[in-house]
Amino acid sequence: MPMKYHIWTEGCQMNVADSQRVGSSLEHLGYAFTDTPEDADVIVLNTCVVRQSAEDKALGRLTSLRPLKERKPGLVINLMGCLVGVRGAEKLREKLPFVDVFSPPSDPGPLVSFLSQGEIQIMESDETTRRFAAMDGDLVLPQHEQGQLISAHVPVVYGCSHACTFCIIPFRRGVERSRPVGDIVAEVRSLAAQGVKEVTLLGQIVDRYGKDVPDGPNLAALLRIVHEVEGLERIRFLTSHPNYFTEELMDSVAELPKVMPHIEVPIQAGDDEVLTNMKRGYTQRDYRTLVETIRKKMPDCSIATDIIVGFPGETEAQFMETYRVLEDLKLDVAHLARYSAREGTVATRRMNDDVPDMEKMRRFRMLEELQEEVVSDINKKYLGRTVEVLFEEKVKGRWKGRTPTNKLVFSESEQELRGKIAPATITWTGPWSMQASLKETTSNARG
Ligand code: SF4
Repeated sequence: MPMKYHIWTEGCQMNVADSQRVGSSLEHLGYAFTDTPEDADVIVLNTCVVRQSAEDKALGRLTSLRPLKERKPGLVINLMGCLVGVRGAEKLREKLPFVDVFSPPSDPGPLVSFLSQGEIQIMESDETTRRFAAMDGDLVLPQHEQGQLISAHVPVVYGCSHACTFCIIPFRRGVERSRPVGDIVAEVRSLAAQGVKEVTLLGQIVDRYGKDVPDGPNLAALLRIVHEVEGLERIRFLTSHPNYFTEELMDSVAELPKVMPHIEVPIQAGDDEVLTNMKRGYTQRDYRTLVETIRKKMPDCSIATDIIVGFPGETEAQFMETYRVLEDLKLDVAHLARYSAREGTVATRRMNDDVPDMEKMRRFRMLEELQEEVVSDINKKYLGRTVEVLFEEKVKGRWKGRTPTNKLVFSESEQELRGKIAPATITWTGPWSMQASLKETTSNARG
């Protein structure tokens, strides 16, 4: 019986990609995946601390593993990700003595080294191994995801060198580092060879890709290069920053058929003073201009944003600026969050978290309701239209897929649709998903 591992992942797509890497590394060592923590010999908790609730969840989960560790002393518990942070794990080690290994974000190395102690060919770090594997076209997805995974995440730039005052990421993930283009392409090729049809290129500020490398390609050029990978059907990228979203990048999205017309570009707040306090580096007007330009070039492009309500000092009038931006721009998605102070950030050290929780909740709900109306109206325009849907899996008897604009579509069909792009006619729309009917037979081709 092979030894088994279990991974619990909290947080952003970067963490999902990191967990895939950890799984792949463990399978190189002979471990097999289990979805039951009680059966596992190694449990990895890949954590997120971007909000207090995420951190509390991770610590709660960790504490619940303690009795299991007492019953099964050979169990290896690995705490990974933002909770550990790039600054080391000394404090956590004292607080959590039953955790065996602490790993910073994106680095399965400490766990691999721990598990491979005593072996002749100890991998110095999984990053090196992964890089060589990728360069040889040999990056292997964890077995339980091979042939199953249709859409995969590929980090292209790690860390962030910005200093948004509410954000803990730069402290946790370190300075911005773009991955070499050769590594990225090799990884995408390898994923495509394993059945992956869609990749999402990831970065905290993905449109800064290449800016830390003299003479390296930028994101627009990277998209053109990745576009050439055979077998790959769709490319997405996130998260963009309004200051770096160039017309050259828009042109790449507009011209390259595999690059999907969906852009994630957070505004965070609509009021200029709040934006200055957040240290975002743009104004409401800049953001509106950006959306206008994107829409001029790509009228059908969907645009997603992030918004934080209740930032320190945010007045009712300032909040209403945010409300009006959402009301006017009618974006496809707004990821909403209530501000929560994160230890170590500039906002926590220097600003007063003075918007009461109830008020934060009221503002949050107002935006939520507005956005529900906006998206319902946008989605209604899809009714009766036929769109290409990439189907990923069957959920409760219905196939689940995504349109090029990243809308979630469900469809009933007896056909085997996993990994297929099929023209689907939209028969029902709601704010968060749509239903579609399919023709009798579908092909693998882009339709
Ligand atoms: S751009 Fe700002 S919000 Fe995004 S990761 Fe960097 S510091 Fe955080």
